[in-house]
Amino acid sequence: MSRIIAVCNQKGGVGKTTTALNLAAYLASFGKTTLLIDIDPQGNSTSGIGVDKHAITNSIYNVLIDRKPIGDAIVQTAVQNLWLAPSNVDLTGFEIEAINNPAKEYMLKSAIEGIRDAYEFIIIDSPPSLGLLTINALTAIESVLIPIQCEYYALEGLSQLLNVITLVRQRLNNELRIEGVLLTMADYRTRLTTEVINEVKRYFDSDEGSLMVGGRNKVYRTVISRSVRLSEAPGFGKPIFIYDKNSIGAKQYFELAKEVLGEAAAGPADISNNNRIKDLQALAQQGVIDTDIRIETETKKIEDENILPL
Ligand code: ATP
Ligand code: MG
Repeated sequence: MSRIIAVCNQKGGVGKTTTALNLAAYLASFGKTTLLIDIDPQGNSTSGIGVDKHAITNSIYNVLIDRKPIGDAIVQTAVQNLWLAPSNVDLTGFEIEAINNPAKEYMLKSAIEGIRDAYEFIIIDSPPSLGLLTINALTAIESVLIPIQCEYYALEGLSQLLNVITLVRQRLNNELRIEGVLLTMADYRTRLTTEVINEVKRYFDSDEGSLMVGGRNKVYRTVISRSVRLSEAPGFGKPIFIYDKNSIGAKQYFELAKEVLGEAAAGPADISNNNRIKDLQALAQQGVIDTDIRIETETKKIEDENILPL
């Protein structure tokens, strides 16, 4: 049985693609056969994993609209155990072309029916809207991972997203639940980051939040920092663990993948540099990062290199 997770937030630029791509790549690196499905016409997951979106023969558009078998669109990526169902600008017309299909909300679900058991994980990167493509994702999956950027108005639009999730659960997919809420682009030099982390945790501890998440606190312990390396990696068509496996972003997405696999106990978000350095020491001991990394250098990296100016 595969686990099917969509990364959704109708807000643009909150880290959906970065999360979908790097989570999928880490799960694959742990030996899990993983399929990344790009259902965003921007095709950022497609190019970010190193596939030329202008040279695709069959994309997810051909699968959804032309009813091509998804196997005809799936390509192997440079990452072992990771496959991709690519997307490109063709998908822009999806909402209009699908409008008369009586099962228009179920098109992705039907498309993956035959292959869902061939993968241990299917990760879907969705577009920044609550339109039909996102509804298709929410209908096809078991759980949704919501990235939230640590910024002003972080919670704006969240209730709208949670309402749509509730509606989909009531009408189209009663299996749907929230996989987790991921805080992204944290900048620990600002009080804002800490405030947003606390606010998001409070929100999901509140009645409204806990209703949606089955009464459990679902904010991931791992928080993703604002990181130059993470923003550079897609330009090279590489996941972060290949682009710079010693970067803080690599370490944090590694931790997220472990949490998704259920290997790390959920707990309060760890936001102090001291604790992060302790984490790095532990990772060095496990051989996950090079043992000769000097912690002072890494601390400097946290302060200088990995945190972009606001
Ligand atoms: P869209 O809504 O357009 O699909 P998105 O939610 O998928 O956007 P991303 O594409 O993952 O967001 O990220 C937006 C931009 O921010 C990209 O340029 C990406 O490289 C960069 N980015 C993502 N995460 C981080 C991070 N932790 N630190 C620095 N830059 C980041
Ligand atoms: Mg995206």
